[in-house]
Amino acid sequence: MENLVKLDPDCLFCKIIEGKIPSKKVYEDEDVLAFYDINPSAPIHFLIIPKTHISKLADATMENQQILGKMMLLIPKIALDAGARPGQSGGFKVIVNNGADGGQEVYHLHIHVLAGPRPWKQELLG
Ligand code: 5GP
Ligand code: ZN
Repeated sequence: MENLVKLDPDCLFCKIIEGKIPSKKVYEDEDVLAFYDINPSAPIHFLIIPKTHISKLADATMENQQILGKMMLLIPKIALDAGARPGQSGGFKVIVNNGADGGQEVYHLHIHVLAGPRPWKQELLG
């Protein structure tokens, strides 16, 4: 993929991409990073982020089409690697919070991926 890495020095997740703030990585390549959420809402809870600063889903443009598609297509494999149970009896949930009403707290676009035996915390829905 064309390398469009543009980071914001004031952004928490850009600092995680740069390694200035530590994270427990699940997957990384030149375009994306996946790391475990510091406050998990499920037995398996990680975030996948683009290695370019996009504040929120509503700010993404057609320029970001490839990276958004890539993140969605990587999720099933990363989820399995992280321990999500396979098949129809297993699975995972994906969530994108957008803006204050959407419950977004960190303004670097991220996709939550949750998996593992229930019950889960309801925090992300609030
Ligand atoms: P949001 O509410 O913006 O959709 O979700 C932000 C998520 O980032 C939250 O689930 C929160 O626990 C997680 N988070 C916030 N700060 C850090 C951090 O420094 N490291 C990691 N690994 N996760 C973080
Ligand atoms: Zn950022």
